[in-house]
Amino acid sequence: MKVNKINNAIESDNNTAKMPVLFLGHGSPMNAIEENEFVDGWRNIGKTLTKPNAILCVSAHWETRRTCVTAMDKPTTIHDFGGFPGELFDVQYPAPGSPALARETKSIIKKTIVSLDENWGLDHGCWSVVKHLYPNADVPVIQLSLDYYQSPQYHYDLARELSPLRNKGVLIIGSGNIVHNLGLVNWEKIDEPGFGYDWAIEANEKIKKFILSNDHKALIDYKSQGRAINMAIPTPEHFLPLLYSLALKEENEIINIFNDKEVAGSLSMTSIKIG
Ligand code: ZN
Repeated sequence: MKVNKINNAIESDNNTAKMPVLFLGHGSPMNAIEENEFVDGWRNIGKTLTKPNAILCVSAHWETRRTCVTAMDKPTTIHDFGGFPGELFDVQYPAPGSPALARETKSIIKKTIVSLDENWGLDHGCWSVVKHLYPNADVPVIQLSLDYYQSPQYHYDLARELSPLRNKGVLIIGSGNIVHNLGLVNWEKIDEPGFGYDWAIEANEKIKKFILSNDHKALIDYKSQGRAINMAIPTPEHFLPLLYSLALKEENEIINIFNDKEVAGSLSMTSIKIG
């Protein structure tokens, strides 16, 4: 689709079929260039989707003091990590941006004033997974930041305001990890998918139960859900993208869970497709 057609689709009142919503557990940046079962999982889910007009990604790796949305024509590929091979720093994901979608996102969010950002780009929480869904980089991508001053309830309520975008052919992706405790990662087990500490497995199972029973209240209040979940979510940034995705679920929509495995003891790759 030509860019002006995409702009028309996003800015017009003509709705399309409702797009599904994804939450992708992104794990190690190396997943961007490795072949493994998680990459296969993302590719397979990509094949089930109608090609979107654009993607809006909420990545764990863009935290700001307010809510921003990337608004440039050509977002740069940000290599926001250290200690990985040069090959990973060579990856470029040259998907176009969508200033039209950025403006539309700003206009539909009433909870706060959204800033149009010209300085960020696409961080690895976004491109390391989106590149497997759309390897030709031919779908425009924008990112929405996480305001790190705000509560889980605030993020959940803000996410609900994005709902109309689903009817404009926009694929909304939350990218984080349900279990994400980097301090306790067992690096020796990094190449053994399925290795999880007992508390990590327990937390992942409990959170999946909340997801499947639509108990979003319990997830918003994750700090009250016991030791395992508190160990799984020592800081909120990798968990909040899940709340963004769940907030967009309509009551009757089905949830498909995939890539449901722990890695390196203290991470889980568990991902969901809604709708
Ligand atoms: Zn991450």
